[in-house]
Formats: sequence, structure tokens, C-alpha cells
Amino acid sequence: MTDLTRLSLKTLRDGIAAKDFTALEATDAYISAIEAGNEKLNAYVAVTADEARQMAKASDAKVAAGEAGPLEGVPLGIKDLFATKGVHTQAASHILDGFKPEYESTVTGNLWRDGAVMLGKLNMDEFAMGSSNETSYYGPVVNPWRAEGESKDLVAGGSSGGSAAAVAGWLCAGATATDTGGSIRQPAAFTGTVGIKPTYGRCSRWGTIAFASSLDQAGSITRTVEDSALMLQSMAGFDPKDSTSADLPVPDFAAAVERGVKGLVIGVPAEYRIEGMPAEIEALWQQGLDWLKAEGATLKDISLPHTKYALPTYYIVAPAEASSNLARYDGVKYGLRVSGNDITDMYELTRAAGFGREVKRRVMIGTYVLSAGFYDAYYVRAQKVRTLIKRDFDEAFQGGVDAILTPATPSAAFGIGEQDLSVDPVKMYLNDVFTVTVNMAGLPGIAVPAGKDAAGLPLGLQLIGRPFDEETLFAAGRVIEKNAALDLAPSKWW
Ligand code: GLN
Repeated sequence: MTDLTRLSLKTLRDGIAAKDFTALEATDAYISAIEAGNEKLNAYVAVTADEARQMAKASDAKVAAGEAGPLEGVPLGIKDLFATKGVHTQAASHILDGFKPEYESTVTGNLWRDGAVMLGKLNMDEFAMGSSNETSYYGPVVNPWRAEGESKDLVAGGSSGGSAAAVAGWLCAGATATDTGGSIRQPAAFTGTVGIKPTYGRCSRWGTIAFASSLDQAGSITRTVEDSALMLQSMAGFDPKDSTSADLPVPDFAAAVERGVKGLVIGVPAEYRIEGMPAEIEALWQQGLDWLKAEGATLKDISLPHTKYALPTYYIVAPAEASSNLARYDGVKYGLRVSGNDITDMYELTRAAGFGREVKRRVMIGTYVLSAGFYDAYYVRAQKVRTLIKRDFDEAFQGGVDAILTPATPSAAFGIGEQDLSVDPVKMYLNDVFTVTVNMAGLPGIAVPAGKDAAGLPLGLQLIGRPFDEETLFAAGRVIEKNAALDLAPSKWW
């Protein structure tokens, strides 16, 4: 019998709808794969096997009754940042020990409404702070990909490392993820998967544990562009419970996938040709441009002059918002409590024990840039630069550009422990040099596998779109995917 875990989300969904196999069989196949592989990959921090089987049985009943939803019976993994009612939700942090929300996030609620099945909660960097999934309280996620002929464990990227590894390693058919500075697109690029960060406001943030509220956006990680469109379709939509959610209709994303790029203008930003960029990445980018051109797009050199300020500005805005958002974890209402002599002592002991090093660093930076006397010099100025970054993109789009092509990351996946956040945080932060601008400007971005490096590790390209034009990203992303025609199955060692 076919291994159901190897099918794309779309093929699996269609097979369930056609009764070629049942949702329960698909769920059981994934649960067995998780039982066999999760110890090595460390992608899941909680597996909800019993609930998954219940949901799958309900899906089979719906298929039998002719009432199948658009994702009926499809087993998904959920990043630990999404509140799931009565189920482990800890943002991979010690401070949320034992926390089980009383309510469901809008995004996951939308997926269950459409018939999807939850397999469990996925590992991530603590509070989504990181680019390698090494800041998790639950330990690092291991990338299913290894360099050819080597057995060294590589990072799966971060912060959505669990989502990326679970999708690449056949431990779920698709996964939810979130992206504040690159956390969907960078792990997708490191694992040969497709990661979409939609426009800010496309998916509701309600019930998603907040990191930096003006940048956070939910999206998906999947094995194909078509799967990406299908998952986002269900996740997206206006939600009155999130004041920043956009009251716009959700287009038919799947219909855009095969639209092609004929007549589109693709921008090529000079500032993304950064110093020290590996020749392989440079060549991959050129290859992507050649493919788009050959399929009928026009290339246009553009300038996004404030790009170089994006990373430093991000590391003011994001920690500032994080320090405010994380103030609520004080041992009083939920999660960890370390008792002390008085309430202040209890707060301090709880926060000292509950937060990891990187989270503490961000809280301290954020508190500093927001403090009286420094607020204008750092936070206000960063907000102004942010406007300039957005304006660069606005001008490119006003100049007729439909989408922008860039590399997704400055390198392929690196070894676990190789980039030490406690020694050189800026080195780790540079992983997001191509992705963070997109969050600062609130735009949609997609990372699509486009090639492999000399060691056989996947490399991704990023497409950046106009606000609320994810459709063009799916269309152009599909052209890259089709032309690259990569074998995206890592050899199984786990
Ligand atoms: N790597 C970035 C950070 O650590 C982005 C993380 C994210 O997108 N959640 O802040």
C-alpha cells in the first residue's frame, strides 16, 4: 500500500474525499511516523494521538455523509504558539509550563472548521525568538536533511523549526507557522519546503501567543506551492476579534497557482546583493530570474535603499514589543510559579527561572529602548525608519513591479551548535537579512525550494508581493517550483 505520509496535502485530501483511503488511515500513518521518528527529529513537543483519531473518525463520517470540508481528514501539525483549547500551548517556554488554553486560536479554529485533523503541537524557538530552533525549552529540532555522505545534525531553521522539520520529514501533511522576521520562510528554505508569510492582517492573530504584535503573522509550511495555497485559504479571513485583521475577502488562492507569470514585472533589488554572499546563492537567484523570464515575465532592476537598516531597526521594534507582551508572564495567572518571600520576589524568581537566555536578552533590550530618555532615540526613530523601508517597497510597486525575487536565506542549513547565540547573536540575526524587510513593511512573502548547494542541501528563493496579493506569489512560486523540479525527499535516517 502507498505510504500515505508521502502524499502531498492535496493528493491526500482528494484521496480521502474519493474514499480511496480513510482519514483514520491517514492519521494512523502519521501517528506511526511520529512515534518512529520524533525522538530523533524532536519536531513535536506534544502529540495528541487520541484526539487526532477522534477528529479523523469525525472526518470519515462527514465524507460518508457527503459533507466533506476543504481540508477534510488532512492531518496537520500546529506550532506551539497557537492556542489550542485544552491542549499543551507553551510557546516552547518553561514559563508556560502546564498551560492549556480555555479557547482556540482563530487560525486553528478555521482549520478544524474545514475538516483538518490535529496531530499535535510543534517545537519552535522560545516565544518565536531565534533562527535555528535552538532556544526552545524542549531542545533543538533536527533537520531531516543532512549533507551528502555526512551524519552531522543540522538545524531546521527557526523559529518554526518544528513545523519545517515535521513537513519535510513526513510527520504531518502541512503545518501552521508564524513569521515575525523570517520564521516561516527561513526554516522552509532550510528544509526544502514551501513557506508563506501572508500580508499582515490576512490571518487573525487572535489566540496566537504574541511576540511582536505589529510584525507577527501566521502562515503555513507545506511540501508544495499548491498545498500552501490550500492551507492559507482555510487559515485566512477577517476576524473581528483581532483589530488588525483585514476586512477583505479571501481570494481563491488555489486558482492562482497555475496562472503563470506571463506579463508580470519582477523586481530585482540591488541591495540584496550583499557582501560575502556565497556564489551558490548568487547563482540560484540568477537561475530563478532566468526561469521567470523564460516563462514570460519582465525583469526590472530596482532599488530598496533602506534595506540595510531593516535588521537593526527590527532588533529595536521587535524586542520593544516583546518586552511589553511578555510582561504578563509573572507567575500569577498561568504557567510556572516559583514562590518567593513576597510578590515581587515571586515575580522575579519566576521570570528568572522561566525565561531562557535569548528571551531575557530581548526583554532587556526592549525595556531599554522603551525607557524614558531612550524612547525617542531608539523606538521612535526605528518607527520612522520602518516607514522609509515601507516607502521603498511602495515606490517599487508604484513603478509597475508585481513581485520581487530575492534569495530566502544567505546560506543553507548549518550545524546544530555552530552559530552560538550566546557568543555572537548578530551572526544568528543575519539569517533574517533577506526576510525581515518584508515584516517591517507588512508585505506577503513566500519561500520556495529552488535548488541545492554543493552538499545537496536545499536552498530557497523568496518572492515578495504587493499587500494582499498572495495570488501572484503562488503563481510565481509555482513557476520556480516547476522549473526547479527538485527531488525534495531527504534520505531517511531517523
Ligand atoms: N529570527 C528572528 C528573531 O529571532 C525572527 C523570528 C520570527 O520570525 N519569529 O526575532
